[in-house]
Amino acid sequence: MKNANLLFLLFILLIHSQCQPPNPPEIKEEQNLNVERPEYTIVIHGGAGSISRGSIDTAKEKMYADSLNFALNIGEEILKNGGSALDAVEQTIRFMEDCPLFNSGKGAVFTHEGTNELDASIMDGKNEDAGAVGGIKTVKHPITAARAVMEKSPHVFLAREGAETFSKQNGLEQVDNSYFFTQKNYDRLQNILEKEKANLQGYDPSIEQENPDWKYGTVGCAVLDKAGNLAAGTSTGGMTNKRWSRIGDSPIIGAGTYANNTTCAISSTGHGEYFIRYAVAYDISARMEYGKQSFQEAANEVIMKKLVEKGGSGGIIGVDKYGNVAMPFNTSGMFRGYAKPGKRVVKMFSE
Ligand code: ASP
Repeated sequence: MKNANLLFLLFILLIHSQCQPPNPPEIKEEQNLNVERPEYTIVIHGGAGSISRGSIDTAKEKMYADSLNFALNIGEEILKNGGSALDAVEQTIRFMEDCPLFNSGKGAVFTHEGTNELDASIMDGKNEDAGAVGGIKTVKHPITAARAVMEKSPHVFLAREGAETFSKQNGLEQVDNSYFFTQKNYDRLQNILEKEKANLQGYDPSIEQENPDWKYGTVGCAVLDKAGNLAAGTSTGGMTNKRWSRIGDSPIIGAGTYANNTTCAISSTGHGEYFIRYAVAYDISARMEYGKQSFQEAANEVIMKKLVEKGGSGGIIGVDKYGNVAMPFNTSGMFRGYAKPGKRVVKMFSE
């Protein structure tokens, strides 16, 4: 009887030990604590895609490099003078929107119907305020419209005619949709429409990706300013041949853009549907906040592992609260660059 009681007691102890909640995971120390945070950091992208040495001629390569450098100059000048991360993001992106090399503003790609519909978003890491516009056709600088939504409306995301009315009411520069016409983007649409007809397949973004010089081309900027505030923004024409008022990830907070002073600021470029479904920008920030991963580690895992496994192509650029930069991409190249005091990098190809 005594033995039976002992066995029962042991049995209870065994069950009890197995039902204990597991030990909480060990909280790792911050891995990237830079004691000397740079005074400021600015990171930009001009889209990912089939960008490999030899796929762009030297003259064009120089044009891209000059434009990326010029964009960095604009943001850096603001930051050197103590300007805010938000101002640096907005002004840098406005320049890129005016540059027809990139798929945003003037260089926006065409919809199936032959129009241009633009998306943009911006986020302030200081207070986690955000603004976005989707499917707008007549505002010259969508990034400024996104900022106006953030600062002058009680909302986060306005779309199409309503966003245009709001922009007009707030005095933003209006243009006719034909302002966004560029021959190269129009020809690209015609080319895809022909292929689509031949394939009898309907809309299929992979048709465009077979093109040897295919690029996403969206622009984005992420900044850490002297006050230690983070901000990010993204602006795009979306994907060539998009239809049914398709809106991609670029104006979606947490997918195309995210900023939070406790982690990082991020702008994405790539096949938007995947970036939306996997909340890419927020996922990276959440891995840092809850999983204590470093920025580099979190960004690499999401872009180079998770997205690759799921079949999503593209990349992100960003900066964390310590001024660490990450720019991973899973395509052959990405127009990208960053600047901090005494350091400037501009790259296109994978190394
Ligand atoms: N992500 C954008 C979209 O899907 C495209 C791009 O990055 O160029 O609309």
